[in-house]
Amino acid sequence: MEFWDKHIKRTRQLTKQASGAKELLQFYAQLLQSQKEIYEIFRSRKDWLPSGELEKDLPAIHEASSSLFETVASHGPAALAADARVLLKDGDQALDQMLLGYWRDSSDVQFFPKAILQPYARWLSETGARPFGRELSGGERTCPFCGGHPQVSFLQAREGSAESGNRDLICATCLTSWQFRRVVCAKCGEERPAQLGYFHSPEFDHVRIEACDSCKHYLKGVDLTRLGFAAPLVDEIYAAPLDLWAREHGYTKIELNLVGV
Ligand SMILES: [Zn+2]
Ligand SMILES: [Zn+2]
Repeated sequence: MEFWDKHIKRTRQLTKQASGAKELLQFYAQLLQSQKEIYEIFRSRKDWLPSGELEKDLPAIHEASSSLFETVASHGPAALAADARVLLKDGDQALDQMLLGYWRDSSDVQFFPKAILQPYARWLSETGARPFGRELSGGERTCPFCGGHPQVSFLQAREGSAESGNRDLICATCLTSWQFRRVVCAKCGEERPAQLGYFHSPEFDHVRIEACDSCKHYLKGVDLTRLGFAAPLVDEIYAAPLDLWAREHGYTKIELNLVGV
């Protein structure tokens, strides 16, 4: 619960000061609210814990996710709102196909499965149920819990560490984080410093682009040693203008965020 409230609060804070990303943040606040509701329904469901096998857990997911469709249908961008209305009308079968397909092999352009399965996968991680039936690519560059791709990285000071800050990655699927090395591409594993570039703009002092010239991918990094109360998933969206820079320079994001940036 704390997790969702913290993110909703940070999103509201940043919406006030955002210029370019205001609408994205407004939409994200609504999505987080819906995701929190999904999570709460899972938690309060009587005599139920998720199995980790998506097919078995689908009935609970259906029950929990209908309000998200209604939120997107009334507040989402036009194209997504239209999709939400179709899915509300088509009913469970279309949604099942979508969820199962995403679970086997996730794609960052599939908005609805990503939005619905984030609170599900997070609930799995909290209850200790292992995700089942996912194609886990393995290795340190995907989430050790669910195999998802990294959404954003963050630096934080860690006690007892000689380095000034450690780098962690946040999973785009289950929203948990894992420790990662500092100077390594999170997509291809490139380690040569000359191939790794950082882009920074004074407007976003605590956020940077971390780009790799070997695979031409990037993700954003949020520096919590500079701004301890930042929430990487949210501040990453707030700094959406940096994505423009990255795209103009020929880099592709490792994983688009939930609002499609
Ligand atoms: Zn994960
Ligand atoms: Zn790379």
